[in-house]
Amino acid sequence: MSVEKVSRRELLQRAGILAASAGMPRHLRLMGMKLGGAGAGSAETTPGGSRVREGVVLPAGEGAAGLRPDFEWIRTVRLMIAEGYVPPFYPSLDYDPKKALALARRLNCDAFRYPTYSYVAFFPTKTRLPHHPELGGGDPFRDTVNLFHDAGLKVVAYNPLNHPFMDVNSDNPEYRDWMRYDAQGQPMITHHMGWTRFYEGCLNSPLREQIRERVREVVTNYPVDLMYFDGPYEGMDQESRFCHSKYCQAAYQKARGKNIPSQDGSATPQDLIDYWQWISEDVVVAFMREIADMVRQVRDVPVVFNDTGLLSRSVRSHAYPYVDGFMFEAADTPEEKLFNMRLGQSTGKVIWTYISSHTEYNTEHLKDKSVRGWYSAPVEGERLELDAAVATAAGVGYCYWGLNRLHYEPQDILDVPSIRALKGVFDFAQKNGRLLRSVSPRPQVGILTGAQTIRWYQSPMFIPQAYRNYYYGAWQLIKDLGYDAEPFLDYEMTAERLAKYELVYAPNAACLSSAQCSMLGNYVESGGTLLATHLTSVADEFGRPRHNYGLSELFGANLKVPEPLEIPDLYLHVPASDKLLPQDPQVMLFQAASSAEVIAETRDRGHRHTLGPAVVKRHQGKGQVIYVGSGLEAIYEETLNESLRAYFRSLLDPFLASTRTYELEFRPGLMPQFASSQNTLLLHLLANTGNIWKKHLVQEEFLPIKNVRVRLRLPQGRSAKSVALMWSGTKADWNVREGWVELTVPKVQVYEVIRVDLA
Ligand SMILES: [Zn+2]
Repeated sequence: MSVEKVSRRELLQRAGILAASAGMPRHLRLMGMKLGGAGAGSAETTPGGSRVREGVVLPAGEGAAGLRPDFEWIRTVRLMIAEGYVPPFYPSLDYDPKKALALARRLNCDAFRYPTYSYVAFFPTKTRLPHHPELGGGDPFRDTVNLFHDAGLKVVAYNPLNHPFMDVNSDNPEYRDWMRYDAQGQPMITHHMGWTRFYEGCLNSPLREQIRERVREVVTNYPVDLMYFDGPYEGMDQESRFCHSKYCQAAYQKARGKNIPSQDGSATPQDLIDYWQWISEDVVVAFMREIADMVRQVRDVPVVFNDTGLLSRSVRSHAYPYVDGFMFEAADTPEEKLFNMRLGQSTGKVIWTYISSHTEYNTEHLKDKSVRGWYSAPVEGERLELDAAVATAAGVGYCYWGLNRLHYEPQDILDVPSIRALKGVFDFAQKNGRLLRSVSPRPQVGILTGAQTIRWYQSPMFIPQAYRNYYYGAWQLIKDLGYDAEPFLDYEMTAERLAKYELVYAPNAACLSSAQCSMLGNYVESGGTLLATHLTSVADEFGRPRHNYGLSELFGANLKVPEPLEIPDLYLHVPASDKLLPQDPQVMLFQAASSAEVIAETRDRGHRHTLGPAVVKRHQGKGQVIYVGSGLEAIYEETLNESLRAYFRSLLDPFLASTRTYELEFRPGLMPQFASSQNTLLLHLLANTGNIWKKHLVQEEFLPIKNVRVRLRLPQGRSAKSVALMWSGTKADWNVREGWVELTVPKVQVYEVIRVDLA
C-alpha cells in the first residue's frame, strides 16, 4: 500500500490538492470546546468557506480545492447518456445526432455522452478494432460534436478500456491473441447485456496498444469537453479468475520472478497478495494512469471514469487518484446511495451518479439475467424524484441513462410524466446550481469503511455479502440520530483526515494495518472519540489474523476466542439503566482490561448465563474509546429497532450533541443531509417512505411525512435573514430562539430543502 500512497501523493501534489491541507498540524484534536459547552456551535466560516475551529482551518468541501474553475461544470453536470451497447447504436445503428440534440435540449441537459466504442467503433478508427458494420463512410461522432457545440452543450466521449467486445461468433483471427485464458488454456467469456457472448480481453496482450491508440485518435481528432472511461477492465464476469495468457505469464515472470499462482487452493496467502497487487496496481491501475497522462498531454480536459466497484474486490477500485472524478452508484436504497456519494466525495474527487438506472426491474423470471430490463425507461414520478434528490443533497453530477427509449418516441417526450419529472429535477439543478455548488457538508462523524476487509478478510464465520450491513448500518444509525457523517476508505486514513471528525466510527473494520491502528490510537490520545465494533483490527490490512485486537490496548479488551460466537436469544444488559436490549446473536468473547469500564454485558437467556462484557469504555490521553463486541449497527440496519437507536443515542450524544448543526425529530424514513457556506445553511430532507418490502427491483409508492419539526443552529454572531422551502416552493413559518432557527415543515413528499440565508 505504501508504494501506492507515494504515487498518489505525487499526483495530488501535481494537481495542487495538497496545498490546501499542507501546514495543518498533525495529531490536532479540537476537544476543549465540546465538553466545555462554551464553544458549542462555534464552528465559524471564513470568507473562503473554510471552517475554523480553535485556530485550525479545515478545507471547504473535500476536494473543492482540487478542481479548476474551468472544470467546475462537471460537479453538477446534467448529462444525457447515449449508450453504445443498446439501440439506437447496437445491434442496429439508428442514431440520428439532430434528434439526440433536440431531445437533450428538451430535457434541459447541458452535456451529452457519445459512445466512441462499445462492442464496435462508432467513429472511423484506424486501429485494428472492429467498426459498426453500418457506419459506412459516415462519422456520426464528428456530426455530434459539431451540432452539440454549436448549440452550446458539452460533449463527453465515452471510451471503454478493455470492456469485453470480442463476439464469440466472430472469425477475426486477432482475437485469439487478445483474449484472457484460464490455467487450462480455455478463453474466458462474459455475457454483458444478453445480445451474445464476448471473449474477455487481456490487458497484457497487444490489445492494450490498440485500445490506447483508439483513445488517442478520439482525444486528438475531436474537440471533446471531457474524456470518460469505462474500466480499465481485466475481465468482467470472470474478473476474479487469474489470466494465464502467454502475455500475462511473461509479464508476471518479469515483474515478480515467479509463476502466476494457481487458484486451486495451493497458493500461499503471500502469493495471492503479490499477484493481486501486480494485476491491480501494475497492470490495471497503471493503464488508467497511462491513459489519463496521455489524454492530458493531448487535450486539457477533465478525465472521469466509472469506479462503481469502489467497495468491491474489483482490480480497478484504486484507480481514482489519476482522474478528476468518477461514477459511483450501485446502491439498492436511497440511504445506501447517499452513503456511496459521500464516500466517493471523501476521496476529493467529483462524483457522478446515474439517475433512474434502477429501471432494471426484477429479473427473477428471466432465464438469462444478463438480458435485464429496459434501462432507458425512467422510473416513475416520485421514485425518480427521490433518486435525483439524493444526488442533489450530496451535490453530485446527474447522468440520465438515456437516449435509447427517447430516440424512438413519436410524441413530445414531455407528455410522459416521468420524463417531465426528470426535467423538473434538471430545471431545479440549473436554477440553483450556483447555490448548490457553493455549500459544503459539515460532518461531525467519520465512518471508517472497511475496503480492506471487503478485499481480504476471510474466516469461517464471515459472510462477505452481508458485510455492507455494518457500514450502511452505522450510517443509518448516525442519520437516525440526527447527525451527519462522512464515510471514508480505510486506506485513505490519515491523521489530518481523522482530525476533521469529532467522532470516528469503525463498524466491524476487521482489517487494519499496524500503522492505521497507531493513527487511531493517536487520534484518541489527542482528544478524539473512537467507537469501534465487533472484529475491528483482528487482522492486518491483508487479512492475516492477529489472534487479538490490534487495538487491544486502546479498547481495553483482550480476545478470548478468535472467532465470534453465535447463540440464539442473546440480550444486552445495560446496568446503568438496568435495561435488556436485543443483542447481536453473533458476539466476540473478550476480557476487559482493568483500565476499561464495562458498560454493558451479554446475557445468554437460554442458558441462564452471562457471557461477559459486551461494551467497554475507556479514557486514553485526552480522548475516549468505546468498543462494542458485536455488530449492533448491522442489527440496527436489519431491524431499525428503537431501543437500539436509543442506546446509541445515550452513547453518542455526550460527544456530539453540543456541536450539532441541526436538530430533527426522528421520523421513520426521513433522512437529513446538511451543507452550508459563508452565507447560507441548507438542510435537505429525503423522505423514503415507500412500500418496497423484501424485493428491491420493483416499483414503489410513497407517503408524505407531515409536520416535521426542525432546528438549524445559527453560526455565532449571525442571524437569519430569510428561510425558504426550496423544493415545494411553499412558505416557511419560522422563528429564532436562543441561536436556533426553528420551523415546522408542513409536508415532505419525497424531498424538501430548507434554505436559511444568513445576515
Ligand atoms: Zn492476461
